[in-house]
Amino acid sequence: MTTIANNLQQVLGRIAQASNAAGRAPASVNLLAVSKTFGADAVVEAVAAGQTAFGENYIQEGVDKIAALRAAMPGAGLQWHCIGPVQSNKTRLVAEHFDWVHTVDRLKIAERLSAQRPAHLPLLQVCVQVNMDGGATKSGVASADVLGLVCAVAKLPRLRVRGLMSIPDHAPDFESQLAIHTSARKLFDEIRARAEPGLEDFDTLSMGMTADLEAAIQAGSTMVRVGTGIFGGRTYPLVDG
Ligand SMILES: *Cc1c(COP(=O)(O)O)cnc(C)c1O
Repeated sequence: MTTIANNLQQVLGRIAQASNAAGRAPASVNLLAVSKTFGADAVVEAVAAGQTAFGENYIQEGVDKIAALRAAMPGAGLQWHCIGPVQSNKTRLVAEHFDWVHTVDRLKIAERLSAQRPAHLPLLQVCVQVNMDGGATKSGVASADVLGLVCAVAKLPRLRVRGLMSIPDHAPDFESQLAIHTSARKLFDEIRARAEPGLEDFDTLSMGMTADLEAAIQAGSTMVRVGTGIFGGRTYPLVDG
């Protein structure tokens, strides 16, 4: 087995164990493999080991990798998620190449993504990014404004609003990780319970990374985003997260 295949098995084992501990079915937690900063060859290895959903932070890097994978493994049926900040001048690339975006935190960006989503592609699947910690400099919408943005995004014709995404600040221990993830889960449940029009597919809570996936699953995450645990340490720093 390659290192990546081996790591992937370990991460899937952690997900299964955390799901069992939480009384949840392991299949209720999707694994997004975060391949940012790693080359197409690493993604090919992960696909060979059975992984199909990948997350990218940097738009141009992601678009290049999507093209490389389409050439290397046509028909692999991969799903590409944009999990990095999206500026206005990058919305077209995202709308034309990705399947999902987790980082919508302004209506203007959502409107551009909807307008630019090509007619021949399925609807772009969107999560609204929420800033649960309240840090003023962080990406994400304040929890008080989430419902309004979710409902506004739900009205856009070429987007499908799927849920919430959260990137809490690093917390050192399980209990503090659990507390912040649980606050995101409560917000998610409140929005779902309202059953507003356009929220029929609001089923995704994207939270948990290599260091805190157990707490995220305990709190109810339906999609963990794991980079380091699968691909190893990254050699260049990140802009936002
Ligand atoms: C990099 C990144 C991840 C993966 O982080 P790891 O700690 O390497 O698992 C998950 N989500 C976002 C938004 C990221 O930027």
